[in-house]
Amino acid sequence: MKRASILLGLAFILLLAAMGLKGRLLDLPSVPPAVAAGGFQTHRAMARLERILGDQLPHPVDSAANDGDRARLIAELRTIGLTPQVRDNVTCGGSPKSRTISCARIRNVTATLGPAEGKHVLLVSHYDSTPVGPGASDDGIGVAVMLETAALLKDGPLTRPVTLLFNEGEETGLLGARAFLEHDPLAARVDTLINVESRGVNGPAIMFETSRPNGATIAAYRRAVVRPTANSLTTDFYKLVPNSTDVAVFEERDWTILNFAVIGNETRYHSPGDTIAALDQRSVRHMGDQALALARELAGRDRAVGGGTTLYADMLGRSLIAIPMSLGIGLLAALLLLFAWLGWDRRAGLGRAVGAILVGIAGSAILAFVGHAVVGAIRSGAFWRAYPGVTGMAVYASAIAASLLALLWLARGVSRATQRAGYWLVFLVLGGAICLAAPGAMIFFLVPPLVAGLGMVAGRWLPVAEWGAALLAAALLFLSWAPLLDLTETLLDFDAAWIFAPVAALILLPALVELKTALGQVRRLDVAMVSGAAVVAAWLAVALTPAYGPDRKQRLSIEYVWDESSRKGQWLVYHDGGALPAAFGASSKWRHGVEPPWSTRKRWAADAPPVPLAPPLLEKLAERETPKGRLVSLRLQMRGAEVLRLRAKPEAQLRAARIGVAARKFGTAEEDGMDFILRCHGRACDGARIDLLIGRREPVEVTVMGVRSGLPAAARTLVAARPADAAPQYSADSSIALARVKL
Ligand SMILES: [Zn+2]
Repeated sequence: MKRASILLGLAFILLLAAMGLKGRLLDLPSVPPAVAAGGFQTHRAMARLERILGDQLPHPVDSAANDGDRARLIAELRTIGLTPQVRDNVTCGGSPKSRTISCARIRNVTATLGPAEGKHVLLVSHYDSTPVGPGASDDGIGVAVMLETAALLKDGPLTRPVTLLFNEGEETGLLGARAFLEHDPLAARVDTLINVESRGVNGPAIMFETSRPNGATIAAYRRAVVRPTANSLTTDFYKLVPNSTDVAVFEERDWTILNFAVIGNETRYHSPGDTIAALDQRSVRHMGDQALALARELAGRDRAVGGGTTLYADMLGRSLIAIPMSLGIGLLAALLLLFAWLGWDRRAGLGRAVGAILVGIAGSAILAFVGHAVVGAIRSGAFWRAYPGVTGMAVYASAIAASLLALLWLARGVSRATQRAGYWLVFLVLGGAICLAAPGAMIFFLVPPLVAGLGMVAGRWLPVAEWGAALLAAALLFLSWAPLLDLTETLLDFDAAWIFAPVAALILLPALVELKTALGQVRRLDVAMVSGAAVVAAWLAVALTPAYGPDRKQRLSIEYVWDESSRKGQWLVYHDGGALPAAFGASSKWRHGVEPPWSTRKRWAADAPPVPLAPPLLEKLAERETPKGRLVSLRLQMRGAEVLRLRAKPEAQLRAARIGVAARKFGTAEEDGMDFILRCHGRACDGARIDLLIGRREPVEVTVMGVRSGLPAAARTLVAARPADAAPQYSADSSIALARVKL
């Protein structure tokens, strides 16, 4: 009895530790001081990036700061021995589904190396940043990787040309990619694309998206890359997250596409914390090694197409397993049949075993949900932000406890052999269901049950084979799934921490089933009390851990708004949903839930002293009727604003907009209630002519907003009251002047 308790306690701690350390499986090797000739030189790449970023200020599209970055980028290209070209076009973009149009003057920089003939391999990154931060990783990592790749490819033999595209305006609606397709004749000569992006500052460089069908593409990636980090689930999964990259524009062409990104520590993304110092050089090297090897591979031969659909996953970043989708489907079906038969063969108690597994998985989610909700009731904001690993441990403790108790109470009298069959049956049925929505996930549902199933068949003659295979299957499941769970946690963060608990349970249950003998010898109430105490302690740790720190700061942007129509000023605070910092409350009365006219994210608001700011001016030049509506021509005066936002209600029926020669139709939004938004970014907006095609015959009201970086002097006390562990993210500290006009 005593030995069994100790064994169970040790197993609990061991499994918890394994889950807590699972991120280490993704650790990248450190950057060596020197690399072999022809290899990616990280230090040289970083030195170029440091020179280009200069004083590391934000450098948004069509700003003086970005002129500086572009000039230094061009100088680096010349130093490498390339001949950069700059294309200069005002461009408007917007998704056909949304009612938002963005426009800016775009200066894309391209350089081509290799032979004159042949289809081009295009390498893409963007050299503009958001107005919030220096963008050392987003997308400095792309700029650095492409320059070093070009320096190394330049002198080697290439079968076909390689073009580098450093685009501008990615951050303002993928405008650089749009401008390339619309205005650069090179676009017609491209058939292959490697895109290099970032949504964080560290961790592996993941090849997370490909064109479809992916067979030939994955074959090339597999041949070329030594340390792959990629799996076929991510392309399906990526469609579910709100981020997008230039590939969203390029995928309208029939190109071979591979999309790379680093995603570690999103708290620095689109914030002042996205600095050279924060950018992990191991990530730069990992990205560089892959991009270089792939560019060599793809430019060394003609484009290969076809190859069907491939399922693939890296094995701890060491190699890539890839199988045809048809083989995967066949194998999954065979495994389902095998386990249906094994289940029938061991049917005594199978229903209880399956029930226990399902209750363990569902109970994990419920327990983690309750834990997170209870902590969330006493703490506000993103309390997991500084130390997400602590919340992770509480989630895993919840999963282990729920799974243990489910096995103890519901499957105590059921043999281990039946529990094994029950687990893998549940695993495969769940897998089949998930694969209906995301077929790329199939690769994760094949190998561990195959090993376990073969062991169970062999066990009929050699009983130890079943036991050995069960342990091996549990280990393989952990090694293939734990890194996947870790990347998913990094991507989604712990907002909805409970969703990771059922996955943790699924990973750990085969190991817990193997503890059957010990579980049969302990008092159930003892286990319930001890594991319950562990869960409470883990969530207590979450409750007591600091929410923010110097490396992972709170998101907190301050805005000043001047409404020209009411002649009133207002402070707005955009942050992570917690309580306002105590020092803010001292000076003003704050109210929550205010939705400003330029964003759907709610702000805190308080009255501000009047600091009049001139909103952009729309001077009407002409108006005429057309069959499709009124064509209103305007002259835009920015009056100091860096960005114009124009917003109209759905009744206004805006049809299209033109700035200079760039024209774009408003998309037909899926939601009819969506407002129309027109944005113009940068210096070229000042003095530009805007033509608006308005469907409504009567005059319509539009809100005109001018955004400029920085705050009035009156904001000094607020800025000083912002905690040291808080910084703007996604939205810069800025001043907005707005007015309502009739058009
Ligand atoms: Zn980016």
